[in-house]
Amino acid sequence: MVGHYGGSSGMIQGSFKKNSCEGYCRRCRKVHSLRYGRSVEFARDMMAAFRREQRLDYDVPADRSDSALSFEILLPGSRGHMFGVMECLDRAGKTVILRAYSSLGTGVREVSGWVPYIPDNEVFNKMVLPQQNIIKQMTVKRNALDADDPLRSHLENERRMISRELMPKIHDLYEFRNFRGETRALREVFQKDGGIPGGVGDCCAPKLLNFAAVHDLKPVSVAEFYWGGANKSGRKQPGQFFPACEEKCQPILGFMLCGLEDGDE
Ligand SMILES: [Zn+2]
Ligand SMILES: [Zn+2]
Repeated sequence: MVGHYGGSSGMIQGSFKKNSCEGYCRRCRKVHSLRYGRSVEFARDMMAAFRREQRLDYDVPADRSDSALSFEILLPGSRGHMFGVMECLDRAGKTVILRAYSSLGTGVREVSGWVPYIPDNEVFNKMVLPQQNIIKQMTVKRNALDADDPLRSHLENERRMISRELMPKIHDLYEFRNFRGETRALREVFQKDGGIPGGVGDCCAPKLLNFAAVHDLKPVSVAEFYWGGANKSGRKQPGQFFPACEEKCQPILGFMLCGLEDGDE
């Protein structure tokens, strides 16, 4: 889960002076944030390993690697994902580096050495997976039908209903810990009008922050970058850094980052 890096240092470029992660905290009535800091260097080390090994489990010997984690499988064609690195300090003041990937979309949920998803895997598999499989099967069935087949719209409606019912059940599985030691449900924490979008809590920053808070680690910096093929719009290039997203992350980050700054306690 946790890796220790030593001796890496270097210049942080001007473009990384902005925050990599921030959100408005209702309680403190201010924006809490984290910077890119040294996490950029650790992220670049990770990119070098990605380039060299072409697999997510780059730190295990090739003959013990899992073929399901090769980039050929995880990142085919123009497919890409966000990856995140968080520099933390443990209680003794020692640097601890955490790593996370955003949702991989291939059914891979747990990878040794990487921060896990926020919902407990067993609960998720029992409650969500069967429903998700039904939705997937319905999609395949629908796509096999002619465009004017009446069964097609029937299937589509049914599919939409099942996913609409599933969404709140998924949301119920997400709880976040902050650095005041408080735990809150997604519904209590999310602050933005228009409902909670899918996938909140699956990006790198929330996973990393939650893991750090639960394990008594103090985040110092964080960096998230894109890796894979250049996406179609060209907006995301491999190796490019992005701040935590506005749509899913910022509305929960104010709560999640609370308690981190010295003045907060
Ligand atoms: Zn996000
Ligand atoms: Zn606060």
